[in-house]
Amino acid sequence: MPHDLRRRLEAWANAALSLAYPELCQLCEREPATPARSYVCDACRAKVRPVEPPFCSVCGRPFQGEVTTESDCGHCRTTAPGFDWARSAVLAVDPVLKAIHGYKYRRQLWFEGFLAELLAARAAPQLSRPDWDCCVPVPLHPLKERERGFNQAHRLAARLSRLTDIPLEARVLRRVVPTPSQTRLSRGERIENMRGAFALRPRRSVKGWRVMLIDDVFTTGSTSGACARILRQSGAARVAVWTVARASDAPWGADGSGSVPVPAGV
Ligand SMILES: [Zn+2]
Ligand SMILES: [Zn+2]
Repeated sequence: MPHDLRRRLEAWANAALSLAYPELCQLCEREPATPARSYVCDACRAKVRPVEPPFCSVCGRPFQGEVTTESDCGHCRTTAPGFDWARSAVLAVDPVLKAIHGYKYRRQLWFEGFLAELLAARAAPQLSRPDWDCCVPVPLHPLKERERGFNQAHRLAARLSRLTDIPLEARVLRRVVPTPSQTRLSRGERIENMRGAFALRPRRSVKGWRVMLIDDVFTTGSTSGACARILRQSGAARVAVWTVARASDAPWGADGSGSVPVPAGV
């Protein structure tokens, strides 16, 4: 086939493809967005709300509108969270929340690049390879992972590991209890619910390790706290947490009581 004709046929094929699969933002479904941009348009990207200081130096909870001289929050003063510190890149509000839900519950895997970018933009500049021994994703229970087809924390941790050269260690922790949804639980109930949910894998040692735990969403810190406690009890020297998003703040009491209005499914 003459070269010119082949080129023209390819152009027609691409035009037909873009009719069948319009390159449209999959969050607002209005603006153009390409696969290379994870199908997220510039307007939706502009609505992302980064976590900005001031926030709790331990759990990263933003001090919303408060003028405070404290470096840690009421929760961290009353209950040790289990990890050294936790940080999140952005607030878990739309459009990020919509992308997380689509990615996790509807297998809209094209959002993975967008979410990984948000995490890397904030976390990577602060993570120096010599300071950390490994990135460890928060594990899913095997039943849940089979049902979902993937562990989002594992995939996000793998991307961050590639960027930072901090080795990925996905086979350190396991989830031994398929914990039910925590959506309606208070912070105290969540911590109780998570007791015994994770364990170190057999014949693994984390003695002296400096571990960066990775998850998609930080809600009350009960999940990452439970993982961190196991790692610390097993001899890890330091455990910190990075997540893509942080559930928007809740009207907790200073003692951590009160229910947490977390968006369904997180
Ligand atoms: Zn959009
Ligand atoms: Zn705190």
